Formats: sequence, C-alpha cells, structure tokens
Amino acid sequence: MKSQKNSLDNFTACEGCDLLLPAVEAPPSHSTVCPRCGTTISRRSTHSIAKTLALSITGLFLYFPAVLLPLMTLESFGFKESANIIESIVIFYTNDYYFVAFMVLFSALILPLVLLSLIFTLSLNLRFKRYPLYLARLFRTYLKLEEWAMVEVYLLGIMITIIKMMGHSEIHYHIGILCFSLLVLVSLAITTVIDKDFFWETIERGGKGKHQPQMKFPGADKEPFVTAAERGIQLCHTCHKLSLSSSTTCPRCGDSLHSRKPQSVSRTWALVMTSVVFFIPANIMPIMRVDFLGVPDRSTILDGIIYFFHSGSYAIGLIIFTASILVPLFKIVGLTILLLSTHPRSTRYLRQKTAMFRFISFIGRWSMLDIFVIALLTVLVDFGFFSSIHAAPAATYFCFVVAATMCAAITFDPRIMWDKYTHYTKTAHD
Ligand SMILES: [Zn+2]
Ligand SMILES: [Zn+2]
Repeated sequence: MKSQKNSLDNFTACEGCDLLLPAVEAPPSHSTVCPRCGTTISRRSTHSIAKTLALSITGLFLYFPAVLLPLMTLESFGFKESANIIESIVIFYTNDYYFVAFMVLFSALILPLVLLSLIFTLSLNLRFKRYPLYLARLFRTYLKLEEWAMVEVYLLGIMITIIKMMGHSEIHYHIGILCFSLLVLVSLAITTVIDKDFFWETIERGGKGKHQPQMKFPGADKEPFVTAAERGIQLCHTCHKLSLSSSTTCPRCGDSLHSRKPQSVSRTWALVMTSVVFFIPANIMPIMRVDFLGVPDRSTILDGIIYFFHSGSYAIGLIIFTASILVPLFKIVGLTILLLSTHPRSTRYLRQKTAMFRFISFIGRWSMLDIFVIALLTVLVDFGFFSSIHAAPAATYFCFVVAATMCAAITFDPRIMWDKYTHYTKTAHD
C-alpha cells in the first residue's frame, strides 16, 4: 500500500483527458503539455516564491490608492463629476440592482484584495520556510477564487468609458487611474510568475528535504494511453496530486476527491439552460438609460454597439460586441456541443473540443466588460437635469448570464468526453 502510494509521486494525470503521464520536470520557464489533448500539465518558473512575494507586496501597496482615489473627473455643462470604483457599486445598490452591485463589488473590489492578501501570506511563509498547517487551505482558497477577480476587465472598461466620453466632455485623469493600471499589471504578473506545482510541492514537503526516488508505477510505460481512472487513481482538482480512487480527501490540500466532477453533466446542463433563459431578456431589454434634458432614452446592448459604429469607433464597437454578445453566445453554444459530446460515440475532434473548453474557461470573465462600463458611466455622467446615465433591468439579467456561464465552465469535466473515447476504442479493438 505504502510503496504504491509513494510511487504515485512519479506520475501525474492530465486535467483535460485523465491520461496518466510520467511526472517530467520541465526546464525553468517551460511548460509540459499533454500529448493527447494539449492541456498544459505544468508550467515552471524560476524564483517563483520570491517573485510572487515581491509582487504581492507591491500589489497591496497599490490596492488602496487604486480603489479609494478618484480615477478621473468629467467636466460638462459646468458640472464636474469624478468616479472611483466604490461609488459605482453604491449607486447600483441604491438603485436596487443588488446582484449587479454584488458582482462588481466581489470581482473588482473584494476579491483582488483577498487574493493579494492570501498570496502574500502564503509566499511570505514559504519564503521564510515556515509551514503552518493553514497554508494548504489558504492556497486552495486562492486557486478557487482566482478566476472571479476581474481587475483587467475593469481596466478595459475604464478605457472604453474614456473613449466613449472623450467627444462629449473634458476628462481629467487622477493618480487613482495610474495606481489601478499598475495594480492590473501586478496582478497579471503574479499569474505568470506563480509556479503552482512548486508551491504545492513546497507546502507538502514542509522543508523536510527532497523526496526519495520511488519505484515506478507498474505498467504505465507499457500502455501509453491508460487513464488514471483505469488504474484506480484519481487526480485532485485543486492541487493535482494523485491519490488512490478509494481516498475521499486529498492528503496534500485537504479538498474532497472525485474521479470525475460530481454530477458534472446534469449540473452543467442546468447552468447552460439558465444562461439561455437569462440571455434573452439581457439582450432584448434595455441595459442603460440616458436622461438628456429630462428625456429618458433607453438602449439595449445592441443599441450601444450600433452607437459606436455610427460614431466611427469601430474598434470599441467590436470589443463590446465581442465581450457582450459573441462571448456569452460562444460559451452557451460551445458548452452545449461539449455536453452533447459526453454522449456515447461522439468521439470525434476530442482534442479540438478540449481546446475549446479551455478557451471557454479563459474568456468567461471578459463578458463583464459592458457592466463595468455602465458602472463607470452612471457615476461619471450625473449632471443633474442636463444629462445622467442609469443602469436598466437587462444589467441584472446580463450578470446572471455571466455568472451562470462561468459556473457552467467550472462544473463541466472534459474528462467525461474522453472516457467515452477510451471505452469506445477499447471495445472496438477487442
Ligand atoms: Zn490530456
Ligand atoms: Zn489536492
């Protein structure tokens, strides 16, 4: 039992197709990729702990000026209105857009701080070779929350707002916008320098020295296309450690273990259906209301895009069209194709489908773009009777679509598509 458990350390399994692979140490700044489905197995980075620590300290210093100081001021009709992130959330909340307020609060304000604090605590401990028990739980929380922080999407929203308002009013920039831009750069840098495998290995080892080389896992080199599940092994979703299928909790990160994500197909179907239901009002109903000289003018997402094309801002029109209409549509259609592929004998283009799944997971958060633009506009354009901008009901439906499609990408397990392939080819060859 013990020798088999130890030998698992010499192997790893692919997250995308469950293929069992020898654990190869990639050279620094290189990645290893699954030969069957193309999913990245591990990405190595040098001096990961020190770099992550330095970046997280910088990020924490930038955070408070970035969110508290005004980003910019708009001057029009003799009125001046400046905006920061917190104000836009308060306005959504006071206008009863609770879910929108919650999504903006969570993704642009709370999570960036939580993530920076978590990764700072973690890398500080690892840097000074201290291994308190809570480190695994801390890193686990970080990994689960990571994709819900959307500072870079918010920054793109700021840029679009600036371009949108440029012709209409005078814009003055403040130090807040510089701090926020730097905060985005730091957050992106953290995601590239963090070597998750190395962090987990360091936490697990607890400074007790390197693992002894263990015996090879029996039969893995004889059968090249064997999955972890077929060998009675399962991969931890969070820290990617292999355990025997009989284990229920990961010995490294403490997360619960499942060979496949529980009720993956039915949960994903439910979430995709939910997104379809909300996608209709999100596009038909007005998302924004512009009051000009007391006359309200409501516009849908599509109206907003057409406005940009009419005014000659084709690039912005295209960005909003992509983020607000193409991305949610692509996610819904893409996930439906993936779900249909979990049915027996749909074993074609599995590599492409797995790549599509990775793309869907990656683009999910960018749909929040239009909401962030509206959030900024409602604060900036508040010139009393002359002109003001407000959110309209579709904003809530749109946030539901974003949240539901993101959750759907999380609950879907691409390995289920490959399971059918494995069973199908096995029976075909027998
Ligand atoms: Zn794979
Ligand atoms: Zn784990």
